[in-house]
Amino acid sequence: MARRDHDLTNEPEESEIPPGIPDALPVLPLRDAVVFPHLPAPLVVGRPLSVRAIEQVLSGNKMIALVAQKDPATEEPGPDDLFRIGTAGIVLKLLKLPDGGMRVLTKGLERIRLHEFVQKSPVPVARVELLKEIPHGGTEVEGLARNLLNQIQKMISMLPINTDELGLTFMNVEHPGRLADMAAAVFGLKLDQKQEILETLDVRSRLEKVTRFINREIEVMEIGSKIQQDVQEEIDKTQRKFYLREQLKAIQKELGEEDEATAEINELMEKIEAAKMPPEVKKEALKEVNRLRSTPSASAEHSVIRNYIDNIIDLPWSKSTEDKLDLLEARRILDEDHFDLEKVKERILEYLAVLKLKQDIRGPILCFAGPPGTGKTSLGRSIARAMGRHFYRVSLGGIRDEAEIRGHRRTYIGSMPGRIIQAIRKVGSNNPVIVLDEIDKVGADFRGDPSAALLEVLDPEQNFSFSDHFLEVPFDLSRVMFITTANVLDTIPPPLRDRMEVLELPGYTEEEKLSIAKQHLIPRQIANNGLAPGSVVFDDEAITRIVSGYTREAGLRNLEREIGSVCRKVARKVAEGATGPITIHAAEVETYLGQVRYFSEMAERTRIPGVAIGLAWTPSGGEILFIESTMMKGSKGLTLTGQLGDVMKESAQAALSYVRSRAAALGIDPDFFASTDIHVHVPSGAIPKDGPSAGVTMVASLVSLLTRTPCCSDVAMTGEITLRGKVLPVGGIKEKVLAARRAGLLTVILPARNSKDLADIPEPLRRDMTFHFVETLEEVLALCLKSPAGVSPSTTV
Ligand code: ADP
Repeated sequence: MARRDHDLTNEPEESEIPPGIPDALPVLPLRDAVVFPHLPAPLVVGRPLSVRAIEQVLSGNKMIALVAQKDPATEEPGPDDLFRIGTAGIVLKLLKLPDGGMRVLTKGLERIRLHEFVQKSPVPVARVELLKEIPHGGTEVEGLARNLLNQIQKMISMLPINTDELGLTFMNVEHPGRLADMAAAVFGLKLDQKQEILETLDVRSRLEKVTRFINREIEVMEIGSKIQQDVQEEIDKTQRKFYLREQLKAIQKELGEEDEATAEINELMEKIEAAKMPPEVKKEALKEVNRLRSTPSASAEHSVIRNYIDNIIDLPWSKSTEDKLDLLEARRILDEDHFDLEKVKERILEYLAVLKLKQDIRGPILCFAGPPGTGKTSLGRSIARAMGRHFYRVSLGGIRDEAEIRGHRRTYIGSMPGRIIQAIRKVGSNNPVIVLDEIDKVGADFRGDPSAALLEVLDPEQNFSFSDHFLEVPFDLSRVMFITTANVLDTIPPPLRDRMEVLELPGYTEEEKLSIAKQHLIPRQIANNGLAPGSVVFDDEAITRIVSGYTREAGLRNLEREIGSVCRKVARKVAEGATGPITIHAAEVETYLGQVRYFSEMAERTRIPGVAIGLAWTPSGGEILFIESTMMKGSKGLTLTGQLGDVMKESAQAALSYVRSRAAALGIDPDFFASTDIHVHVPSGAIPKDGPSAGVTMVASLVSLLTRTPCCSDVAMTGEITLRGKVLPVGGIKEKVLAARRAGLLTVILPARNSKDLADIPEPLRRDMTFHFVETLEEVLALCLKSPAGVSPSTTV
């Protein structure tokens, strides 16, 4: 018999089929299998009882009852362990196996019901009853059968093997009940499902059940294949990437780039290790290196990533300098670099003392406030030197963009960290002294508020994890010593100001400048211009001449510049062959620096009545201020010029009213105002001026004009006035007095209530100046007009 096992249509040859099913048949219990009528079933038989049963039927009519066990695990099933319904089958073929078992090909014939067992051994034999299926004709069953066939075809199309033949076989089954049986046998239903189908004699209901099972099976297969597809896609993607990367490597190798790229990565990895970063930063850095690895070196992205990694590597995450906290040595260094500035130096030493005891730099941020050139930045440098720290100056003047402080996001091409992080990177240690210069000139606009970012920089509660937009990882700024400088305090945003302790550097007197020039500026300029120490000697008078004739400033910038230009000219002479120390005398200053730029115009200007000398406070130190009045025929108007602010204008009006109301007492013709116009002008017309402190000077100017009495040329004054003639206190006394002194005005009239401010003025200066503290305008006039009205001042110092 040349038949194939899975040839489902093959019928046993007529000669092999016994004429009918006998009443009793030997029983073959089936583990985990159900044999359907008309379908072949290959079985493996191993249990001795089963082997004996097969052997017995082979010698007879070859018919056997094929019945499934309820539990496949039962080794020796008794009658109760078997289902009641099975299939009468015929043994077609037998193959003995070496272990004593056998492989048999059986074919189902008809459904049977088992009745009682008539024999238990040597082979179990049971009485059987042939079961007839309940047939159904008509369209319903036909429809069900066709639908099942469709589902079967669908199922077959989903099978991974080529199954055209199987499809054809199903199409050729005409009997609907058989179609259901065959589908149940072929498509791997579970044992109890198969048994259920076998037991269903009603063809229609059998078709329905099988269709349901098959539908479920299709669903499961569909889900399975979807999952399979997803997994496959994922694998494909990974494989594709891997493949492309390998290709890229091959191309790079071909181009000779591979070594370079690998060397670059290795170098970066080494640097990352060496930089001793905090773990989260290291993680980020390694992530970027990985990204760099897969980015072609010619792409823009490559340089962006590289720039970022370089920045991160270069930052001194754990590099710091050791603090020198020897207070005596610090004092020596501060004295060596700066003249005087006692209060400031004391405060710096206290700061260092606290740092020494507490090892914690937290505390208010020092803010050096004062006019330009008074040594604010250079003090910062000196502090760094005294502490043995690195120094960096960050200029904040004119910054309006928050990104200047906090950096640009990395996504921008050419983006950089903010200035603070850049400063840290440049100095290479995480505890430098950083001077934030001109913090009063920080502005805010649509690009964000830089002062908010500065607040985070300066706040010890926040700056241990300062976030820079470029870095994206926090940097610890808590060990940095920040110092700020400002010209004026009013424009510093209040929250920033609150964090700062202000130390004022108001400016220097002529004597102080002389000493500073001799001890600091001249030696420095000599060295800067390549001259030997001591090769140029300035005599004191020459220096004083430079100070008064070539500079007019509270600080020392111009003085240093002028001294520098003298030294340069001397250097030229030396280079041309001059020998020996060259001494600069006062008379020679003009040959080096050209004509004197500033002269004392006091005497000249105050010769005519109507000009009085006032004192003003400006961000760059004090200034002297001439107030001029003149009169002409007209209709009693008051004209004010010189870019005066509202307060100053009101102050001029008050001055005029005071003068008019006291005309008689002051010796002025009361009718005089009826036909006169008065013009008050404050020269340096281009510079805006405001404030009430010029009140006394306005009165002096008007009275001088109207009484035709010139003012004293060496008296300067400041003070607010009331209509009743009282003099009220004003601010900026120290700067104003220094300005008077610079201008050679040795007598100063001040409001009585400002007398306490005299303590701020250096002792030597106080000694050779005269201060008059006044309460009323009468006193002012008595002191400043050349023909005093006979009233004596209340206090004289
Ligand atoms: P600021 O920052 O206040 O504008 P700088 O620090 O630039 O001023 O100072 C200008 C110059 O004056 C520097 O060369 C500085 O060394 C010098 N200088 C200022 N004050 C003193 C001082 N008290 N003693 C010695 N040199 C000084």
